Amino acid sequence: MNKYSRERFDVLVVGGGPAGVAAAVCAAENGAHVGIVDENPNLGGQIWRAGLPGGDHSAGASNWYARVRAARVSVLCGKRVFHQPDAGILLAEGADDVCELSYRSLVLATGARERFLPFPGWTVPNVMGAGGLQAMVKSGLPIQGKRVVVAGTGPLLLAVAAYLQEHGAEVPIICEQAPWTKLARFGIAMVRYPGKITQGLKLRRNISGIRLVMNSWVIAAHGEQVLLSVTISHAGTLEQIKCDYLACGFHLVPNTELPALLGCRIRCGYVQVDDFQQTSVKGTFCAGEPTGIGGVELSLLEGQIAGLAASGQDSGARAIFGEREKFRRFARTLDDTFCLRSELRSLASPETLICRCEDVPYSRLQEHTSWRAAKLHTRCGMGPCQGRICGPATQFLFKWNPDSVRPPVFPARVENLAVSPVDEPPIPAATGGLQ
Ligand SMILES: Cc1cc2nc3c(=O)[nH]c(=O)nc-3n(C[C@H](O)[C@H](O)[C@H](O)COP(=O)(O)OP(=O)(O)OC[C@H]3O[C@@H](n4cnc5c(N)ncnc54)[C@H](O)[C@@H]3O)c2cc1C
Repeated sequence: MNKYSRERFDVLVVGGGPAGVAAAVCAAENGAHVGIVDENPNLGGQIWRAGLPGGDHSAGASNWYARVRAARVSVLCGKRVFHQPDAGILLAEGADDVCELSYRSLVLATGARERFLPFPGWTVPNVMGAGGLQAMVKSGLPIQGKRVVVAGTGPLLLAVAAYLQEHGAEVPIICEQAPWTKLARFGIAMVRYPGKITQGLKLRRNISGIRLVMNSWVIAAHGEQVLLSVTISHAGTLEQIKCDYLACGFHLVPNTELPALLGCRIRCGYVQVDDFQQTSVKGTFCAGEPTGIGGVELSLLEGQIAGLAASGQDSGARAIFGEREKFRRFARTLDDTFCLRSELRSLASPETLICRCEDVPYSRLQEHTSWRAAKLHTRCGMGPCQGRICGPATQFLFKWNPDSVRPPVFPARVENLAVSPVDEPPIPAATGGLQ
């Protein structure tokens, strides 16, 4: 039987990336009793992964970690929130325990994940997500001397290529599907963000020896037991490149499953929030990538606003609105620059698996007209990842929209699903800062 524990907070934050950390710090510094829960073993989210901040963000990250400690935020790492059994209560599962977390106000800062698009050979071992491979190298995967093709779309590709090269990998090429014209417009728009220009120039220097091609994408990965090579398309010509790894991701998709489960309104794929980052559910705020993919600066700003508003400091929150708007414009520019070209819809062959958890090939999905019908008839999206990979892919390939999210939002142990909250007087409803 798992250990069962209960914690009560004024403000509970789900997600320990930059947005969640900023929200927790701002709420706690205003006197609220704050808990922050994350499934990873350490705070930091994707960019400050493993609590070992690197690169440009080191100083910023260390400063935030010091504030987490000073403000006495309760840190609950290694626990994944999977269910809301009752209003104001969430359940989180750890390796051998389950936690009942009660709150007056909630901040959802669940981040984003990479988008993957299926192509022949994408299930061959050593074909990985770009950010996924970077995370594995950060966790100790040896990459010295390995040949890695980096492909897909979005600024993450450049960051990953620079990181892998710095750690001894040979990166022969970065294939970016966006055209030069869009990239040029993106460059011009960066004039508004001097910090981004500095970051971009540094990145460009770090990848200066790598061939960077636009209008280019992977057509197929070859190999059986392990990856041997990939074929890329570049301006209409095909080229086969030998490699040990393919690091491939098509920008990011927001993690909106938990917000959706809690009843938060989702619009155009993102969680809808008001000026104070409050969702359509009173007392529930959302910050960072689930409201828009805009990078670490936007996540930090939204997190601060959410934390201040959740602890009743509206005027402090209001003071940051202008800066947030600037980075929201950056998020819109990112969306426009790295939107997917239609040619990518025809990468999969009839045999290509789209749902790799349930082995559902493209040809079987073509028989259906909606995500729901495909799920019912093929089990697409019903495996361990619960549609987190094939859902965004089918949204792009077939323009299907996922329907309702059901608990648990992540696979959980059966005994934990049976847990029901112990009867106790509910915590009074949130006050202040919640319109
Ligand atoms: C794979 C990947 C790699 C990236 N690498 C870089 C990089 O190298 N450089 C860069 O500039 N940007 C990178 N980014 C982008 C970066 O994540 C954003 O710019 C920004 O930092 C996001 O901050 P956030 O707090 O909104 O989300 P995140 O940093 O993603 O944090 C969200 C956190 O919520 C947690 N979480 C989600 N759901 C639950 C749940 N149900 N229960 C418990 N915990 C939960 C996650 O474990 C995660 O720690 C990467 C993104 C991804 C997806």
